[in-house]
Amino acid sequence: MTISSFHPTARTLMGPGPSDVNPRILEALSRPTIGHLDPEFVSMMEEVKSMLQYAFQTSNELTLPVSAPGSAGMETCFANLVEPGDKVIVCRNGVFGMRMTENVERCGGEAVTIDDAWGKPVDPDKLRDTLKQHPDAKIVAFVHAETSTGARSDAKTLVEIAHGAGCLTIVDAVTSLGGVELKVDDWNIDAIYSGTQKCLSCVPGLSPVSFSERAIEKIKGRSSKVQSWFLDLNLVMGYWGGGAKRAYHHTAPVNSLYALHEALVLLQEEGLENAWQRHQLNHLALRAGLEAFGMDFVVDEEWRLPQLNSVRIPAGHDDATVRQRLLNEFNLEIGAGLGDLAGKVWRIGLMGYASNRKNVITCLSALEAVGLKADGSAVAAAQAVYDK
Ligand SMILES: *Cc1c(COP(=O)(O)O)cnc(C)c1O
Repeated sequence: MTISSFHPTARTLMGPGPSDVNPRILEALSRPTIGHLDPEFVSMMEEVKSMLQYAFQTSNELTLPVSAPGSAGMETCFANLVEPGDKVIVCRNGVFGMRMTENVERCGGEAVTIDDAWGKPVDPDKLRDTLKQHPDAKIVAFVHAETSTGARSDAKTLVEIAHGAGCLTIVDAVTSLGGVELKVDDWNIDAIYSGTQKCLSCVPGLSPVSFSERAIEKIKGRSSKVQSWFLDLNLVMGYWGGGAKRAYHHTAPVNSLYALHEALVLLQEEGLENAWQRHQLNHLALRAGLEAFGMDFVVDEEWRLPQLNSVRIPAGHDDATVRQRLLNEFNLEIGAGLGDLAGKVWRIGLMGYASNRKNVITCLSALEAVGLKADGSAVAAAQAVYDK
């Protein structure tokens, strides 16, 4: 049998990521591949770095995309900053906080965990108390936007508390970057990682990271080698930071970087604050519609992520059946619940390019078409938010 070319069905991606990719980004991907040490490519890499500084709101020199997905950005932060024996406080309120613990342990560190209920933000008071009990802690790690539950945490306050106890901070911003306010320099974040496939609406597979001077000092002062050769920033810096004297480290994913460049050009054109506002407006409209269906949000209003709406599935509807019908009949993907929330909630993403009025209305009318009953019209409720 001859296998023929793969042509996926175009879907509307309203899950926890990847999100819909802007056609301009897909077009950028198909541009001619050139050498990764070609001067043209090197100057494009410099532009990517400076646009990432804008997206992260930082002047950190060490700001670059790791050539692998968000999880690799996470490992880059832990592998470089955690030395064997280091005590790391990990704040957990969902799936990604659990993974951080795993990372600390695999780096030979000692993880001290603080648990908050899924759907709640990280509790600053618990962090304060834990730091008092562990004055020898070196690092505090937490997730800014927990995609598994849709909860935002107060990154600025958590970093302040960590610094007050002399700790460095590692922040997961995979889902927050480009979707909600995030200010790396103002908030004094030391190490941060993100992903391309959430609110940047780019293809999956790259992980923007940024490190403060303080973080770089810790990395340079390590007494043991970073256990991962590929993620060792001392080596990566020679490649991404080398300017014209760039040394070969690995072959950059050339075309994926064209895509990220285009995604960041799009973000610049829109303006970061405008992107945050767009995410908020579409969230409010979707919310009005979901509430008309009688759905409750998992997260309290103050901590809700506009790009990830976790809502309880109304009684009488089967999780998998509804999601399957949305996919089969409307080419619409929404996310399932994870962990304790599996089968009980849907996670409806409005990330990046997918955060738009058409998607909000499409999603609400598709939910109605597969049998959900609204009090009045869910579409009209959403439309009323736009018309305000
Ligand atoms: C998606 C996600 C990750 C992992 O990113 P991948 O690109 O899937 O490796 C990490 N943290 C959070 C909060 C995420 O939403």
